[in-house]
Amino acid sequence: MQAGTAAQGNSDVGSVVIPEVPQNPRDTPIGRAAAAAVGVRGAGADRLWPRPADCRIMTIANQKGGVGKTTTAVNLAASLAQHGSRVLVVDLDPQGNASTALDVDHHVGALSVYNMLVEDRPLADIVKPVEGLPGLYCAPATIDLAGAEIELVPLVARESRLSRAVAAYDSSDLDYILIDCPPSLGLLTLNALVAAREVLIPIQCEYYALEGLEQLIRTVELVKGHLNPVLQITTILLTMYDGRTRLASQVADDVRSHFGEVVLQSIIPRSVRVSEAPSYGQSVITYDPGSSGSIAYVEAARELAIRSQKTAG
Ligand code: ADP
Ligand code: MG
Repeated sequence: MQAGTAAQGNSDVGSVVIPEVPQNPRDTPIGRAAAAAVGVRGAGADRLWPRPADCRIMTIANQKGGVGKTTTAVNLAASLAQHGSRVLVVDLDPQGNASTALDVDHHVGALSVYNMLVEDRPLADIVKPVEGLPGLYCAPATIDLAGAEIELVPLVARESRLSRAVAAYDSSDLDYILIDCPPSLGLLTLNALVAAREVLIPIQCEYYALEGLEQLIRTVELVKGHLNPVLQITTILLTMYDGRTRLASQVADDVRSHFGEVVLQSIIPRSVRVSEAPSYGQSVITYDPGSSGSIAYVEAARELAIRSQKTAG
């Protein structure tokens, strides 16, 4: 008798062959095929990462330009969002590179973090969803922000304006706020350090990498001592690693022996795909998911998500 006849009447039940009901209703051949297909695309069982109990506010800082701050902010944010977290990127660099990479409107005069910092506009007014990446949001920067370093000087609580704006923002739904800093230790970066609980320092694997770090660390200590007692350097990420040079591996070793376990295990390689992605208004995670740069950023983001908040001590 056919399995389908089971529905015809209870009197018949004893004689019908009832097919084995899968334990998990989603565990069907087509379900497994779908899961496998997703797995091929690199998500699979690992699709969702743990989300923090409270929103982690991280400032990505290094007063050197070109070390990978923006690239790191954008690609960690995209990776975290792709794995189930809700992430806001705050672009605090007048160049607006993070806003460009996330393809968020930031033409001159558009509502931006400038209006928030200088004119007390609520953060909620300027946050925009990033298209194509659910769970990812951006507070864009416009070139107007270039004047903010000076315009902020006479304002009340000039170094805590971002902190206040973030505190007034309902972040109960957010898992991460990543703040992308300009290449200086001026008032914008100071605002970022006062607003955050954690500092993430990208370090480029090159000869001068450690130069200037002392000054950054001293600044973090000053902010911690006077303005934001909870601030900690929790994460260091080695960027633009060129495996062909002995220098790069030496710098990586030096950084590890100096800073210990705050240094993420994943190292971001130098990769053309990483540098191409922003011109398409994309992260490398979406632009070329299989590229070495994308895989490394996803791995770095996973480490960030699963590790507890270790500190530089
Ligand atoms: P910052 O924000 O610290 O000034 P960026 O993230 O803008 O640094 O990076 C500086 C330049 O280096 C950009 O053109 C960027 O595309 C490129 N870049 C960053 N990371 C990589 C990488 N891993 N491989 C190749 N190019 C990179
Ligand atoms: Mg930048």
